[in-house]
Amino acid sequence: MERTLSIVKPDGVRKNLIGDVIGRFEKNGLKVVGVKMTSLTRQQAEGFYAVHRARPFFGSLTEFMSSGPVVLMALEGDGAIKKVRDLMGATDPKKAAPGTIRADHADSIESNVVHGSDAPETAAFEIGYFFNALELL
Ligand code: UDP
Ligand code: MG
Repeated sequence: MERTLSIVKPDGVRKNLIGDVIGRFEKNGLKVVGVKMTSLTRQQAEGFYAVHRARPFFGSLTEFMSSGPVVLMALEGDGAIKKVRDLMGATDPKKAAPGTIRADHADSIESNVVHGSDAPETAAFEIGYFFNALELL
């Protein structure tokens, strides 16, 4: 069993995709073990994406991520990290495989609907960034 952190980003919430995203995860055997809706401050978005702080898109990304409500969720399942990444598709929707969340719904490489942790260490950091032990099953 593995855990991962996923986010329905502000564009996904604006486009009424919360149910679609969570539905895809549940239909593929992932269990929601923690979930909450909130709006991130700019500072919270900067802390979450700290690994990207030197990248040219950091300012725009953190502005976007704090532009409206998001749905934060911790998911559990066999190979959960890769499963979520596969369901999301590539960062750039133009390169995302057909049938993935980003291919179906993303508008751009930045506004790409969904986040998923990329490795066990980042999953642990990201789950801990948003959830305390009492908020997880
Ligand atoms: N991003 C962007 N421009 C880029 C690359 C990434 O705006 O050239 C944004 C996009 O929202 C992406 C996030 O930054 O989801 C984090 O980038 P990462 O490379 O970690 O992509 P992901 O793991 O989300 O596929
Ligand atoms: Mg990433």
